[in-house]
Amino acid sequence: MAVPVRSFDEALLSRFLARLDQLEADRVLTPVITLDRLREFLDDGQRDLVEQIIRLRPGDYGVETPYAGDLEPRVFEKYTALNDAFADEHPGRQLLIQSCYRSPACQVAVFVGWLAARYQGDIGQAIRHVSPPAYSQHTIASKAAIDFKNVDGSPSDTSPGDFAYTAEYAWLRQHAARFRFQESWLPGNEFGMGAEPWHWQYRPPPREADLG
Ligand SMILES: [Zn+2]
Repeated sequence: MAVPVRSFDEALLSRFLARLDQLEADRVLTPVITLDRLREFLDDGQRDLVEQIIRLRPGDYGVETPYAGDLEPRVFEKYTALNDAFADEHPGRQLLIQSCYRSPACQVAVFVGWLAARYQGDIGQAIRHVSPPAYSQHTIASKAAIDFKNVDGSPSDTSPGDFAYTAEYAWLRQHAARFRFQESWLPGNEFGMGAEPWHWQYRPPPREADLG
């Protein structure tokens, strides 16, 4: 195993810091800037430093901070592989996406929609079927849940539970784990959530395989 780097070149580091100060003053560097956007403003040496920082592992320095998760969401890529495998076995059919990632603000809107339209304002009932933003599996992009729908339109608003009797659901039960999708709310689950056979969460591996 390679010896971990103990420090970066001092001159490179101080030029990088000056660049970042300038980008902050120009309001380019904000808390929501993407890596791609940041790279646009850096030279080759600074970009290389970014890659090295991304690949640092606290464990190499005696710090056991747990791995927090993938930086760039890959749910769509994994979904594509899942759907291709399903379509290979069921020609003419598709696992369509009804809903996947939702921002916290969007989740608030969804919550209000269910609460007002379906549950007449009864929070205790609504919260078994739709979660507030900080508890929703739809609001964390790298681990976003997908709500599936099949080509026949199941689940429908009028009988959502019918999805449990579809070929799509049977196939997901058998194969989804291979693609790291997991059914979150089984009937009678320990969390007290209502059953949602259409709702499957992508669970990324604990550490990206290519970091090693
Ligand atoms: Zn869902």
